[in-house]
Amino acid sequence: MRPFSYQRASDPDMAVQALSAAAAANNPLTQAAAQPLAGGTTLIDLMKLDVMRPAAIVDINPLARGWSAIEPGGDKLRLGALAKMSDVAAHDGIQRDYPVIANSLKLAASAQLRNMATLGGNVMQRTRCSYFRDVSYENCNKRNPGSGCAAMDGVNRMHAVLGTSDHCIATYPGDFAQALIALDATVEITGRSGTRNVPFAELHKAPGSTPDIETTLQPGELISAFVITGRWPRSVYLKARDRQSYEFALSSAAVALDVQDGTIKDARVALGGVATVPWRAREAEALLKGQKFDDGLAQRVADAAFADARGRQHNNFKIALGKRVVARALQQAVTMEI
Ligand SMILES: Cc1cc2nc3c(=O)[nH]c(=O)nc-3n(C[C@H](O)[C@H](O)[C@H](O)COP(=O)(O)OP(=O)(O)OC[C@H]3O[C@@H](n4cnc5c(N)ncnc54)[C@H](O)[C@@H]3O)c2cc1C
Ligand code: SF4
Repeated sequence: MRPFSYQRASDPDMAVQALSAAAAANNPLTQAAAQPLAGGTTLIDLMKLDVMRPAAIVDINPLARGWSAIEPGGDKLRLGALAKMSDVAAHDGIQRDYPVIANSLKLAASAQLRNMATLGGNVMQRTRCSYFRDVSYENCNKRNPGSGCAAMDGVNRMHAVLGTSDHCIATYPGDFAQALIALDATVEITGRSGTRNVPFAELHKAPGSTPDIETTLQPGELISAFVITGRWPRSVYLKARDRQSYEFALSSAAVALDVQDGTIKDARVALGGVATVPWRAREAEALLKGQKFDDGLAQRVADAAFADARGRQHNNFKIALGKRVVARALQQAVTMEI
């Protein structure tokens, strides 16, 4: 590991100032020389691998008193960015009214990791593309802009089939973000000019020609909370992976439905493990609205969700797998007893 400075932020202003001071003006937070430290389960890993090389670490854990609350209330849910994954997954109100959130967190990582890791750190984790994580490969446009992409013609079994570009095909690896996308969450961001709120769907950027710029967060900005409007008791997170525990998704689906008298009034479908960013399948959702559910509809919706998918040598199987995951998640959501 390289030398770095370490500061503990005593309040949000100090955290923002410390991050801004050490950041280059035009560097996105994911590349910036100053990085916030939450649970450390990703950041420290990537520093040991020499993939991330921050000159300054700003420990934001002292902000937990204000930023770790789990606040369900009426028709609004607010989750502090420093809430631990395990605490949110185990919360009674979340399990009852937002099972898609509880399950996305329970199915992510291991119990030990979930006890350390925070919601903010989870959505900001970097891709697990093995060429990105191994600095002996020079060709990685995300780590080393303009160098090429070793995964295009390399071992790309884990890579994306949706939202890819000629510059990067890495998957967004997390699980919780799909639940946030399906629930139309808002992300609260704290920075130099106070707090701003943006749709969570606008946080992550598709790779395009600049895969190194992964989010719309600016240097010095921190995620302080996630806000969800409405309650979604009929919601499901389904994850297909190589083994039943401690593994990233090959394909996952977050589904939230509002069903009244057997008719689907509203439907949200988000995909994970198959796309470069947390993916909202809007064409698929449109097919569900106003319909009565049956297996034929589930298949048409699944086909629509992957209509634009483009596989490569090793990851073509994700298209067929992903369709099955979507259809199964819909079946589970429709038949839930609530
Ligand atoms: C072996 C292993 C298996 C895993 N499996 C899964 C899995 O199946 N599914 C899954 O979803 N995840 C998985 N993970 C990832 C794990 O969930 C993340 O490491 C964790 O959620 C990150 O949270 P953290 O608080 O430790 O973040 P940190 O490591 O502290 O930070 C991660 C990044 O986010 C930034 N950051 C942290 N907090 C904020 C904030 N509030 N605002 C802005 N930036 C911030 C940091 O600067 C850093 O760049 C796995 C990890 C490991 C090591
Ligand atoms: S897929 Fe993206 S992260 Fe992986 S090697 Fe190519 S450019 Fe790098």
